[in-house]
Amino acid sequence: MTHSIRPQPGIEDIVLYKGGESRLDGHDEVLKLSSNENPFGPPETAKTALIATASTLHRYPSSDHAGLRGAIAEVHGLDAARVICGAGSDEILTFLCQAYAGPGLEVIYTEHGFSMYRILALGAGATPVVVPERDRVVDVDAILEAVTNATRLVFLTNPGNPTGTMISADDLTRLAESLPDHVLLVLDGAYVEFAEGYDGGASIVDASETVVMTRTFSKLYGLGGLRVGWGYGPAHVIDTLNRLRGPFNLGVTQLATAEAAIRDRAFAEHYRSENARLRTWLAKALVALGVPSDPSHANYILARFHDAEQANACEASLRTKGILVRKVAGYGLPNCLRITIGTEADCARVRNAIQQFLEGA
Ligand SMILES: *Cc1c(COP(=O)(O)O)cnc(C)c1O
Repeated sequence: MTHSIRPQPGIEDIVLYKGGESRLDGHDEVLKLSSNENPFGPPETAKTALIATASTLHRYPSSDHAGLRGAIAEVHGLDAARVICGAGSDEILTFLCQAYAGPGLEVIYTEHGFSMYRILALGAGATPVVVPERDRVVDVDAILEAVTNATRLVFLTNPGNPTGTMISADDLTRLAESLPDHVLLVLDGAYVEFAEGYDGGASIVDASETVVMTRTFSKLYGLGGLRVGWGYGPAHVIDTLNRLRGPFNLGVTQLATAEAAIRDRAFAEHYRSENARLRTWLAKALVALGVPSDPSHANYILARFHDAEQANACEASLRTKGILVRKVAGYGLPNCLRITIGTEADCARVRNAIQQFLEGA
């Protein structure tokens, strides 16, 4: 039967998101270093809280998320009334595009930025605008030059994914202060917890009516499978996003587990410090093999090879050894591989496998 049903303009231009792979034929135990997951798994306290929700699953969850928002506000010193929780920070980013972008309007993100920004902009019918970075670092002036009367959103990941690089608080402040007041700046802070001494832009949010930040439980807290993220912004933005949010967008299990996780400061501190230590170790070990990377502020490093051919061959060689890392040609970095920082043993294994590849073994 023929029909004339068509999706809204832009949706057919979306290329499906491709996540990090988790399976390899012929390998029972795959070392997955392709999705920036916490190698230690979720905190025990969170698992206990999760199991306890089993007996309450017949009840609808809270629709205002007061418990989780309160815990987030307490831990980070924020105003709980201006926190919004979603099914991953992806959902908060989706609300932002739904609310502020649309046909004839532009959404800016940077050259090596997260591929979801393009998908969400197109999904809202808006025009994605890609701005160059400078040597894998966000360029504030290039963003400012790309702004037009039609710009509504600027998405900026800091620390960047897959680059791992950061721009300073001063640069962020300059960007926030220089953008015209019809542009909402979105600071995607998926990896903020791994960066030393950075509040994710919370103080910039507090000083402005046009800056929002997003955060996630998927990376530091080891809860990517649970789907919980949050946003923090000015009251008018949070009010707008809450109008779009389904009242029961998070289940009782998500709410209770995330709340337990964020209150477990010892877990967060342990992983943060282990990650920093092993990140330094792996970066140095790879430099010694002739594979450099920029100083990373996240839970991965972006290893640079001679060219795309060598990067692809290395990725293929690691596969044969049961190790998955992330190819990032789709992010404009064909000569690089993004390697998640695993446990000490994981780091040693990937380093040795890269050495064997380079030695042609
Ligand atoms: C992982 C990640 C997210 C968070 O995704 P969730 O939906 O919270 O799991 C957001 N932005 C970037 C850049 C990421 O890498």
